[in-house]
Amino acid sequence: MKKIYLDNASTTQLRPEVIHEMTKVLTEDFGNPSSTHSFGRNAKSIVELSRKTIAKSLNVSASEIIFTSCGTEANNWILRSAVKDLNVERIILSKIEHHAVLHTVELLQKEFGIQVDFVSLKSNGEIDLTDLVDLLSQEIKTLVSLMHVNNEIGTLLDVTKVGRICEQHNALFHSDMVQSVGKIEIDLQHSPIDFMVASAHKFHGPKGIGFAFVKKNSGLQPLFYGGEQEKGLRPGTEAVHQIAGMAKALELSYAHLETERNYIFELKKYLISRLEIEFPDFQINGNPDGIYTILNVLLPISETKTAMILFNLDMKGIAVSRGSACQSGSIKPSHVLAEMLSNEDLKKPSLRISFSHFNTKAEIDLLVEALKNI
Ligand code: PLP
Repeated sequence: MKKIYLDNASTTQLRPEVIHEMTKVLTEDFGNPSSTHSFGRNAKSIVELSRKTIAKSLNVSASEIIFTSCGTEANNWILRSAVKDLNVERIILSKIEHHAVLHTVELLQKEFGIQVDFVSLKSNGEIDLTDLVDLLSQEIKTLVSLMHVNNEIGTLLDVTKVGRICEQHNALFHSDMVQSVGKIEIDLQHSPIDFMVASAHKFHGPKGIGFAFVKKNSGLQPLFYGGEQEKGLRPGTEAVHQIAGMAKALELSYAHLETERNYIFELKKYLISRLEIEFPDFQINGNPDGIYTILNVLLPISETKTAMILFNLDMKGIAVSRGSACQSGSIKPSHVLAEMLSNEDLKKPSLRISFSHFNTKAEIDLLVEALKNI
């Protein structure tokens, strides 16, 4: 049976060049970057060259990139330190942020008694910027945390615009860019963003590695203690092979961005056109003009089949998702869709299909055929 992977918002297949790079580092460059001998110096230079590559892709200085174990850790670190060390008294976010942000902010509210305000959403899942401006008129030390691309419905945020709004209101701006890094051009030099986070496994790099961009002189303090790595901001021996793999993956993603974006966008348009023919009453959840890698659809299929739909597709070797990966095994409806669908529609099957350049039109045809036979 041919297996079809259409769950790229959840994680992605590694590029062969990334595997090659990581294998080389694992085999040859095993030194500890903190050691002063040649093995250590060699490992250190791999870490620093990787940092430069990543910084260049996002147009920032290398000293502003801090490696972490994943996007979740980076989000936790920034939000917690902003409250604990930067005296943030209020966080503004949306109800459709990833749980790595939502649950962290809930906990900070309990622990530190901070004020938490949710910005309104438009019916298509986009952030209502007028409401953001209204919320920011209150004079209280604030951090705004809004994701660049929503991982379930693919809606996009104009981060430059939000950054400017935050700047005008003296608020800090943190953006979870896990779904956009490597897929959209990002210029942090020209966008007033204080903090952002990314994760390698979303852009064809390895799992277990991510990074944060932390603007110079931010005042952020570490979450962990016990070492001088990452300027003391994220101690622990660096995972040199993961860091090298992440830098290679990001470099290649941006080198091929134009071609791969066009190719993937065609796949998305093709799937929409096939659904229009086979399921004329289907609906797109979120803004149809969201990111090219994600399509979330509500299918006119009997409600009774909702619970089994992923299982049925999986039996045919097709991997898609009903929400974010951590929720896909749960029967709870997605917290993102719950913000924009009626109770009636929430019971119907919604699917998140997320693409990469490894997918083909033939795979889309097989998905549509499988859906017809459910
Ligand atoms: N933020 C978003 C938007 C995501 O999609 C994910 C992954 O599901 C994360 C954060 C968590 O990233 P990681 O898997 O690196 O912890």
